[in-house]
Amino acid sequence: MMDDILRALAAGEVIIGDGAIGTQLQARGLPAGVLPELWNAEHPELVTAVHHAYLHAGARIVTTNTFGGNRARLTSAGAADRLTELNRKGVELARAAADGRAWVLGDIGPTGHLLEPYGVLSIAEAEAIYREQVTVLAEAGVDAIAIETMNDIEEALCAVRMARAHTNLPVLCSFAFNAKGRTMMGLRPADAAQRAAEAGAHAVGANCGEGPAAIVAALTGMREAVDLPLIAQANAGVPQVGAEESTIWDVTPEQLAAHARAFVDAGARLVGGCCGTTPAHIAAVAAALAGAAAPH
Ligand SMILES: [Zn+2]
Repeated sequence: MMDDILRALAAGEVIIGDGAIGTQLQARGLPAGVLPELWNAEHPELVTAVHHAYLHAGARIVTTNTFGGNRARLTSAGAADRLTELNRKGVELARAAADGRAWVLGDIGPTGHLLEPYGVLSIAEAEAIYREQVTVLAEAGVDAIAIETMNDIEEALCAVRMARAHTNLPVLCSFAFNAKGRTMMGLRPADAAQRAAEAGAHAVGANCGEGPAAIVAALTGMREAVDLPLIAQANAGVPQVGAEESTIWDVTPEQLAAHARAFVDAGARLVGGCCGTTPAHIAAVAAALAGAAAPH
């Protein structure tokens, strides 16, 4: 049995996370605009290949391919009737790949809708959406719930509350900050961290956004507000459109790895990658942090 991930984080361990799943599936042929979660059922061998590549690179985390597996997103993709199937399958694939040697994080992303008063989604509706997905992920056997890429504090808090109320699992919550240190909704790192902690998150952090430097700044702001383990999952920079509509990510594995120590010094205890990162990025981060003890 693996130790509880919270115990490892509390002991000051630095855990290497995995990297992007969506962009890795696109590299394996997932067409733009197709929901990655559909491949849990249609191309399970390719989802498994991504998980294995990250484990081989040194990740001790397998994140389920369920980021868009909530009812709101699946409804937009015409797949709402497959919610239980796709989330369960995502957990099964991650669990099989982890094979007892890595923690399985049940991935939860935004609904894709704005909450009232900016949009039409009520708090009660957002809570129902998150309650449904966290329940399916927990019943399928994840080790923790990872709420990611949040912009709106109220939406993030709906997810944190539901994960705490309807599972007994550790809850991680991270937000996407831009280079100016705000989320798209104007949220600051310190406020995000404090309110997520008050709602019961066990670890908070920054993921996605605009590259590694923005992550360091965001963690520094969070560290002033909370004393929780922090999460750092940077994008490989800001995507640029290349030839034939291809997406180019401009942060190399070496450049990401050069920031790994700064992430840890800023309080990060889980260091992985987000959009555009590859197994090579994770391998470089793992090498940079090999034998690195967390500062006291
Ligand atoms: Zn991302």
